[in-house]
Amino acid sequence: MSANEPFTIEQFYKFLQQGKLMAGKCLRCGKLHLPPRPLCDDCYSQQFEWVNVSRKGKLLTYTVINIAPQQFQALTPYAVGIVQLDDGLKIPGMIQGLQQEQLKVGIELTLDFGSCSTPQQWPQWPRYCFKST
Ligand SMILES: [Zn+2]
Repeated sequence: MSANEPFTIEQFYKFLQQGKLMAGKCLRCGKLHLPPRPLCDDCYSQQFEWVNVSRKGKLLTYTVINIAPQQFQALTPYAVGIVQLDDGLKIPGMIQGLQQEQLKVGIELTLDFGSCSTPQQWPQWPRYCFKST
């Protein structure tokens, strides 16, 4: 597919902006890297291809943030968690659209683009979040 794009975080976010969740797949051992990196930490191969990965997963762990950095204060309290995607990849992110009492390890979440609240003055924050499946 898009084999020529560089395997960098910048490119990963470019794909996110296009609504695609992409991981770097090692061509030698098949390991998926998310976010992508230029060197496989299993076999040290530098040969990768971009693959589309599942946006669905299960909540592994989470924390509710009550006291946030200034640029996030408008969103408090909010939850951040680590979600294990169906492909086995683990990805951190903000969880939105759920009450605190609905949050439980193991609930099914879907990575969502575009409809997440993001502080305007924080361009580095990835433009995705997790929502209830
Ligand atoms: Zn490898």
